[in-house]
Amino acid sequence: MTSGQGGGSLTELRLANRRRALRLLRLRGALTQAELSQGTGLSRAAVSNIVRELVDSGLARATAASRNGRRVSEVTLNPSSGIVGGIDFGNRHVRVAIGDLTHTVLAEEQHTLPYGHAAANGVREASEMLRNLTTKARRRLQDMELLVVGLPGPIDLESGRTVSPAILPGWSDFDVKSAFAAATGVRTMTDNDANLGALAEGTWGVGQGLSDFAYIKVSTGIGAGLVLNGRLYRGVAGTAGEVGHTTIEESGLLCRCGNRGCLETVAAAPALLDLLRRSYGDITLEEVLRLSAGGDTGCRRLIADAGRHIGVALANLCNLLSPQMIIVGGELAMAGDILLAPMRESMSRRAVSTPAEATRVVIGALSERAGVLGALALALQESDERDGASHNESRISGTLAS
Ligand SMILES: [Zn+2]
Repeated sequence: MTSGQGGGSLTELRLANRRRALRLLRLRGALTQAELSQGTGLSRAAVSNIVRELVDSGLARATAASRNGRRVSEVTLNPSSGIVGGIDFGNRHVRVAIGDLTHTVLAEEQHTLPYGHAAANGVREASEMLRNLTTKARRRLQDMELLVVGLPGPIDLESGRTVSPAILPGWSDFDVKSAFAAATGVRTMTDNDANLGALAEGTWGVGQGLSDFAYIKVSTGIGAGLVLNGRLYRGVAGTAGEVGHTTIEESGLLCRCGNRGCLETVAAAPALLDLLRRSYGDITLEEVLRLSAGGDTGCRRLIADAGRHIGVALANLCNLLSPQMIIVGGELAMAGDILLAPMRESMSRRAVSTPAEATRVVIGALSERAGVLGALALALQESDERDGASHNESRISGTLAS
């Protein structure tokens, strides 16, 4: 290549194209050269050259694979080039996973935590799990490019602090980012569990290939992760998706947010368990789900009513955003159609018919793994510093051919 301006800008263009290909591989895992061409907008010939360069330099690998019975050549990033970590906290659990840059989960584990545990204890437990899993996967913590920690409830993404009112009582106004960076030595980011659930379902679950969808997590709290135009939408304050605080009863019970009659006061797990206490005594959500699956009339009625209430909030969401799909996750989603049928009916009764008919309401595919897989998905997106994509612009995977 000759020196001078023309040569310089050509090199820049080649580097930019190479970065586009690398970023797409990070977001989507294994791709054929045709998919790389489609996803980057580069010609097949240009992609072929880039792939050859990446393979020669050890950054990527091309391997034979089978797609729908057809043999294809798939390109992935080099599995030994780096790892990412994900941690997902719930009221009574912590789940930790480690993945490589080819979208393979190398190790994953869940431990129970006592209700009301102090944040410092949660950090200690999860950091130790992360260390053990890294060793188990025969990798080193120094090779971890980014760790993403997910928590229920709002989090200030810039500072990495939980914002009141926290769902986890021991984690109020806690600097999650600094605590984990100090405990593990790994660069850390945080996000809320509903946003991570949306990223997980968009990357690996039922939201693959969709550009506009909402993920609703129904558990101790109720929150939504919104993907609009292929990007996670966080809003100015970073708290978009607080559907749990939709007013259902104007003079209803006082909510933890300070308002009255929010959806959470009638349909989140603590509200449901409160309603059962008189007839069922102290009962856990797991027991409620088991009883309702076994045909218990009271438990089924309770879950159906929760579904109807959530359907009101979904009707508002549907009118406002007209998403392609609403994916329901969280513990209560394990009730399946007992929850979903009344939810759909209530939504379609209240929403304007055109958007309601265009929106599919389904149960998520990833169940209790959604949070931790979403943390890995976000870590894969954000660990590529060279691209400098800001946190507010997290893209989901886009179309993924199967
Ligand atoms: Zn509220």
